[in-house]
Amino acid sequence: MARILVWFRNDLRVHDREPLVAAVQQGIAIPVYCVDPRQFENTAFGWPRLGPHRARFWRESLADLRSHLQSRGTDLLIRVGTPETVLPALVQELGAERVLAESEIATEERAIERAVAAALPCPIQWFWGRTLLHPEDLPMDVSRLPELFTSFRKEVEASWTVRSPLPAPARIPGWDTLTVEPGPLPNLEDWGIAVPPVDDRRVYPFVGGETAGLARLQEYIWERDRLRCYKETRNGMVNADDSSKLSPWLALGCVSSRQVWQEVQRYEAERVANDSTYWLIFELLWRDYFAFIARKHGSKIFRREGLLGIDLPWSQDAGLFQRWCNGETGYPLVDANMKELQATGFISNRGRQNVASFLTKNLNIDWRMGAAWFESWLIDYNPCSNYGNWTYAAGVGNDARGFRFFNILKQSQDYDPDGTYVKRWLPALAELPSHKVHTPWQLLPVERQRWLTHGVYPSPIVDLGESAHQNEALYQKAVGKAPKPRRSRR
Ligand SMILES: Cc1cc2nc3c(=O)[nH]c(=O)nc-3n(C[C@H](O)[C@H](O)[C@H](O)COP(=O)(O)OP(=O)(O)OC[C@H]3O[C@@H](n4cnc5c(N)ncnc54)[C@H](O)[C@@H]3O)c2cc1C
Repeated sequence: MARILVWFRNDLRVHDREPLVAAVQQGIAIPVYCVDPRQFENTAFGWPRLGPHRARFWRESLADLRSHLQSRGTDLLIRVGTPETVLPALVQELGAERVLAESEIATEERAIERAVAAALPCPIQWFWGRTLLHPEDLPMDVSRLPELFTSFRKEVEASWTVRSPLPAPARIPGWDTLTVEPGPLPNLEDWGIAVPPVDDRRVYPFVGGETAGLARLQEYIWERDRLRCYKETRNGMVNADDSSKLSPWLALGCVSSRQVWQEVQRYEAERVANDSTYWLIFELLWRDYFAFIARKHGSKIFRREGLLGIDLPWSQDAGLFQRWCNGETGYPLVDANMKELQATGFISNRGRQNVASFLTKNLNIDWRMGAAWFESWLIDYNPCSNYGNWTYAAGVGNDARGFRFFNILKQSQDYDPDGTYVKRWLPALAELPSHKVHTPWQLLPVERQRWLTHGVYPSPIVDLGESAHQNEALYQKAVGKAPKPRRSRR
């Protein structure tokens, strides 16, 4: 029987895995994962690309994949090295006839694909599984993708085609015909990564892997029955069920978007179809949109000027940036989110929008530094969603809406009116009355003495209104020299 390597990448699951199903049909499927040393390198700004929370989630996902494969009669070959060196060597060692894998989206991953294809002594067959919609099923060629999300959404919604998720193979035979060591799971300490202790204040106990990802899908949609009110709660920052919390599993491919889609369809048929059920799919479409935009524009999504080509005089002030990273800006909503990010590796969409707006529109710090910080810390990091959202927030993404900024104080009142969220992450403010918690700089000396019992709280590093005004002037000046940003309805 033909031996076929199935190369696992950001698709760490056995359900809805086309290359795995195809390999089992064609011969002896041999699952392989390459621990690529490049993922442990530093970002362009000097901190590790793979921060401790991401690393933990990734390792757990690999362990879970291995146990799923073992329970089906096979194993996961784990090798340390770049895929372009590991895979050709394994093909030779095992006498494999071909390699099957899922294609990725961002430029770095695609460069690796080209290097692998060039180095292999056998054919490689590519599959697609990263998005809800298959590129071949889009109503337009990716090269003609609209630059506005709304146009994309309307065209897609006029004729939906979502492929059905594939079941996992019940058995993956042939392991007993191989004489090969599976190889150990990566030891994070060997890579200089120390995983911090669990923080009890975390919004959700994220555990990597398909088992936990599918359990969360089941829990959120069916057991907790929260899909019916998703649209009303999705901006919450405090509760596990405010939103689906599926993004970390989607990022590593432990769960596929198509599986989420299928459950939403079933829920709509069996329980309720309403604005909320639609909205979850709407958000998955945003995810797809950023992926296809990355496919269309390649490395341009990482450019300082963004897809709009707006040449803004961004600052890289290390002191200001560090205070943002460490949650010491003096604005409780920003600070609480940045503390939560470092403590747990996850923050809500509302929190991300606020801290990204503050960094770019109030501090005028180079948005790429913020994106690289998120890359290191977010357990759901994926290049397309991260860089797509950051360019959008910075006003330089294709679908950005000019100089729009979040008024941090209004956002605090709207989304954390009684201060529950900021008090959770900022113990210094825990004793403050709710109506004073978002403006600690206004406390009288006597109030400070009475309520700031757990320490001092930093003064604001900028004036909100003044800084936004100054940065808007810079933006308008730059836009005068560049194409006007187009508007979307988001
Ligand atoms: C500056 C910034 C950076 C971001 N970086 C990432 C990132 O690296 N990885 C990532 O998955 N998301 C990113 N997001 C998008 C969004 O914040 C997260 O997807 C969401 O908070 C995850 O929580 P959830 O799974 O509970 O989302 P839900 O609200 O339950 O949404 C369901 C799913 O839809 C997708 N989704 C929702 N909102 C967005 C969005 N704005 N863009 C793209 N997809 C979306 C996600 O896959 C999410 O899991 C970023 C947003 C901002 C503002």
